[in-house]
Amino acid sequence: METMKAIVQHAPFDFRLERVPKPAAGPGEVVLRIEAAGICAGDRIMYQGKAPWGISPGEIPGHEYVGVVEELGEGAAECHGLSLGERCTAEVQIPCRNCAACRKGLFHLCEDASGFQGGGWAEYIRLRRGAVVHKVPSSIHPLDAAMIEPLSCGAYAVERAGVEMKDTVVVAGMGAIGLAALQFARLRNPCRLIALGTTTENTALAREFGADETVNIREEDAAARIRELTGGAGCDVYIECSGSPVSAETGVAALGRRGRLMIYGVYTRRAAVDLNEIGQNKELTILGGHLSPGMMPYVIRCLKTGQIRPRKMATDVFPLEEFDKAVNIKKIHLGSIKTILLPGLDGSEEER
Ligand SMILES: [Zn+2]
Ligand SMILES: [Zn+2]
Repeated sequence: METMKAIVQHAPFDFRLERVPKPAAGPGEVVLRIEAAGICAGDRIMYQGKAPWGISPGEIPGHEYVGVVEELGEGAAECHGLSLGERCTAEVQIPCRNCAACRKGLFHLCEDASGFQGGGWAEYIRLRRGAVVHKVPSSIHPLDAAMIEPLSCGAYAVERAGVEMKDTVVVAGMGAIGLAALQFARLRNPCRLIALGTTTENTALAREFGADETVNIREEDAAARIRELTGGAGCDVYIECSGSPVSAETGVAALGRRGRLMIYGVYTRRAAVDLNEIGQNKELTILGGHLSPGMMPYVIRCLKTGQIRPRKMATDVFPLEEFDKAVNIKKIHLGSIKTILLPGLDGSEEER
């Protein structure tokens, strides 16, 4: 039996590099040879045993990847319009098409937890029947292509928050999703774009990606600074991508009248917000965001045309063999943003 290298979940802090059977494509399925696969903040929370969705022993994580079509199951070529050797990625959720959410067309909110398409931290991945696949042009660098999923999340946060030209927009959290949101907010050219970060490296990158102003929340009171920058009015949009409940509280305090709070992070604790600020004082609109429905084709197009150039987000690159170092990189590299695993990389090979 053919085998492959993969990172397999066992328990919190116990994900192992193992040899497992190489997947084969059943009817409607596609097997990709993985070029590059990212580690998400949610994956790190899962690794630490803190994720609300828990750990699935025996499963291979990884939902941010790009790969080359290695095998097409019966009917898959027609279904996806794919041929061998083409590059693609796929949406995180495989919609069941039958639950209440799917019946409303809300496929990214599908209630079927088994529809989560993981498996990217390996040499090969099997995209299950019903996966929503997107072709990726060969001109897009593998490190950029591996970030299509988190970039799409950032784009969706901006789209759903309804960022307009007259808005002062704050993006909180300069991790991968926040920096992605910042780049897509920039494309909308709002009145003013403010980035909140925690390190000088990340706020410097935020400026490169188009922030007009940056605030290091470790050094300044962010809500006070936002009010100061807006002549006391407060911001119009606050996009929370840091995963910190305190940042959501800052958002409620920093927003002006009729402001919009977009909650996009993944949280392990609850927030304590002043409901009077939301209601009688400001009439805020609270929006939630999950995954990136409909955004991947747009993001792929932006990468192809160079409208966004996110490469500097790919701060740390490792072969699968160095997974332990990769998953713990934030402890030693404070400026780390996106960690990417390259299954085809070994010590002797130069990075492409
Ligand atoms: Zn992700
Ligand atoms: Zn469903």
